Amino acid sequence: MSSIHTELVLKALESLDALSAPPPDGRPSLLGVPITELERFAEAAGEQRYRGRQIFQGLFHRRVTSFADLTDISKKLRDALEATFDIDRPKVEQVQASTDGTRKYKLKANDGSIFEAVYIPEVARGSRTNTLCVSSQTGCAVGCKFCFTASLKRNRNLSAAEIVGQVLAVRDDVAPFGERAQVTNIVFMGMGEPLLNYAQVTRAIGILLDPMGAAFPSKRITVSTSGIVPRIYDLGRDLPTQLAISLNATTNAVRQQVMPITKKWPLEELITALRAYPLQPRRRITIEYVLLGGVNDTIEDARRLPHLLRDIPVKVNLLPLNAHDRTELKTPEWSQVLAFERELKRHGMNAILRRPRGRDISAACGQLGETVPLPQSREAAT
Ligand code: SF4
Repeated sequence: MSSIHTELVLKALESLDALSAPPPDGRPSLLGVPITELERFAEAAGEQRYRGRQIFQGLFHRRVTSFADLTDISKKLRDALEATFDIDRPKVEQVQASTDGTRKYKLKANDGSIFEAVYIPEVARGSRTNTLCVSSQTGCAVGCKFCFTASLKRNRNLSAAEIVGQVLAVRDDVAPFGERAQVTNIVFMGMGEPLLNYAQVTRAIGILLDPMGAAFPSKRITVSTSGIVPRIYDLGRDLPTQLAISLNATTNAVRQQVMPITKKWPLEELITALRAYPLQPRRRITIEYVLLGGVNDTIEDARRLPHLLRDIPVKVNLLPLNAHDRTELKTPEWSQVLAFERELKRHGMNAILRRPRGRDISAACGQLGETVPLPQSREAAT
């Protein structure tokens, strides 16, 4: 290895904007670095600018897993990169397969943090959609009362590299199942509130959208939020991705009970942000409504919802609560679920009753985090 070149590469590190916190072995990950920074980095390392593009394409288009496979750059540069950087995906500790084809991944970061991602294959209207639900944090401080992740009480932000690494790790895992198993859609609906990790989430999305790399179309990446109002405005300005809102109530009083974040950003402010959200033609905001027995599932709620969302292009996903042992909330009666859906449709709403996926492996909506060990003090308390 040329030590002179390695020194240049180390110096060129300074040209990279926001590297994730270096892992314990000190080598930062290249998986969170956008193409423009890699080009700048190549120049600073005494290479041609286009070498940065070649590295980016190797990482995200060809999805190489070792620097040795970046065969279109010189061995000298490959060795220097290897000595300086890491391109490891989060480690797949466990894969659980549901009877419905859903796969839940227990992933381990370099610092030992555990988080989960869920792969959901679906055949809809004759076309195959394989959605990957990714995490943005290792727990969640937002504290929604129906959510298992909230009970973990941890919320380290994942870095852009760890977010992109999730996608690469799952793509690698499903690759042997053939072309039809490819991940086609990404939803930020896993562990964590993505808009409370705004810088790293948007950085990761920029990398995933880049046509030189993973090249996901913007309509196939959805960011779901509990309603971090200022960041909704930012997101609409910064990225062309799809937006989903976890709404779950039609009055502030009920929403405060199940989503304490409502005290900070009440429904009026959230709805104003949705009205202002710049939507591309033929796109809609997804409204997620978890039906909680006896709490938000009345016919009055079903009548208030269309009024609340009037004039906003939306589709409503109805999700009866996936019960778990960290919530006292209950799944509603099936007759109530059907009545709620009927009432929304009667008011002309585009409402879809979602079939829970991966419930047998605790991979369904609101259930993520079951494979994450509790801190010892909490373990004793439960
Ligand atoms: S539903 Fe989302 S925002 Fe709410 S606690 Fe769970 S992970 Fe956090």
